[in-house]
Amino acid sequence: MAVHIVEEAHRCLGCKRPRCVEGCPISTNIPEVIRLFKQGDMETAGKMLFDSNPLSLVCSLVCCHEKQCEGHCVRGIKDVPVHFSSIESFVSDLYLDRMAIECRPSNGHRAAVIGGGPAGIAVATVLAREGFAVMIFDSKDKLGGVMRHGIPEFRLPRTVLDRIARRLAEMGVKFRASTTIGGALEIGDLMRDGYEAIFVGTGVWRPRTLGMRGEPLANVHFAMDHLGNPDAFELGETVAVVGVGNTAMDVARTALRHGARRVRLYARTREVHASTEELDYARLEGAEIVYGHRIVELTDAAPLFEVTEYDEAGAVLGTSPEPVLAPADSTVIAISQGPKNKLALTTPGLECAEDGLLMVDERGMTTVDGVFAAGDAVTGSNTVVHAVAAAKETARAMADYMLGTAVEAGA
Ligand SMILES: Cc1cc2nc3c(=O)[nH]c(=O)nc-3n(C[C@H](O)[C@H](O)[C@H](O)COP(=O)(O)OP(=O)(O)OC[C@H]3O[C@@H](n4cnc5c(N)ncnc54)[C@H](O)[C@@H]3O)c2cc1C
Repeated sequence: MAVHIVEEAHRCLGCKRPRCVEGCPISTNIPEVIRLFKQGDMETAGKMLFDSNPLSLVCSLVCCHEKQCEGHCVRGIKDVPVHFSSIESFVSDLYLDRMAIECRPSNGHRAAVIGGGPAGIAVATVLAREGFAVMIFDSKDKLGGVMRHGIPEFRLPRTVLDRIARRLAEMGVKFRASTTIGGALEIGDLMRDGYEAIFVGTGVWRPRTLGMRGEPLANVHFAMDHLGNPDAFELGETVAVVGVGNTAMDVARTALRHGARRVRLYARTREVHASTEELDYARLEGAEIVYGHRIVELTDAAPLFEVTEYDEAGAVLGTSPEPVLAPADSTVIAISQGPKNKLALTTPGLECAEDGLLMVDERGMTTVDGVFAAGDAVTGSNTVVHAVAAAKETARAMADYMLGTAVEAGA
């Protein structure tokens, strides 16, 4: 049975030192939202959620609550934590289309946002509300980033993202779709055209490869390609997924929903990196986890693995003398993503760390004056709420920079 949110709200102890807030990466004032909810003041509760996190509806659906707010709830020590995500989902859903989003009158300053994922959306929201003219550029046809082209629809309905896009448009934020900056247009062109500050929220979209024979085969795919457009892939009945993180779980569940009969996820060791929740769902839907399998080659017939045997206590007993064939119609590689380098290659002075992630100072400014960055492009693969939290801070620094109220880094 679904959680009854009114009862849940009454279970909140309204702690003086709320551990749930400490566990929330964006420090949403959870006890206050619950107090307003109990009073029936949905408007103020919704506004508080939106002001704290413009993607609060998304986060209520996809955050790892078990590790964050709910994982810290004091109720959870002896009992079950308050199911705040359900309360947040209800209030945010109700509020998203109804709310009057106040925006200050235009201040005459213009900012460009490269990448319309959570980080870009958060920056655009904060700046538009402060009276800045904002233009988002994205390589894809619609706003959302990984929320639209990675997280499967059954976890995050696309209508939620469409509603957010509508609200952004109402705030005056402009969107130029299917435009890759670093292609025909470069950051230099945006500067030339008078954008005073530029935000880079391009995320991490280059699949990490295994670096072995067989990766370019017709029946081998990368997770992000598959998740971005699952209908374009004929995976067959038996699918091997290399990797056991959250992305791998999404691939497995998506494959099972698109006709695969048997999906096995291969873990190198006995460890699974996905959250307990994602692992549980994948298993419930029929995915199997196979431990101790290190991939060594991909062939037309199947991936080949070196197999490690363990005893009951988990100690290694030995490895297979020969690679073992694990028959599969197709193999999906899901071992995480790194950044693409288009912007670094086309923007003089834009420096990246060795792993290709953008370098920023404490304000979120990159090594190019006026160019800021946050989200996965800076941290590497992380989460929606972490991208939004960092982007909100960066947006404030961008505003100071454009208004000339910025304090020099290190001053
Ligand atoms: C399969 C999968 C499932 C996930 N599930 C969850 C989850 O359940 N919960 C959670 O919290 N997090 C999840 N995450 C992580 C989360 O989605 C990311 O941390 C978050 O989306 C990062 O936001 P971002 O704005 O930094 O980048 P992105 O969401 O990656 O957005 C970047 C945007 O920039 C655009 N772009 C890139 N380069 C350019 C360019 N040169 N010019 C113009 N546009 C460009 C891209 O098209 C994209 O729209 C998941 C990630 C994956 C891969």
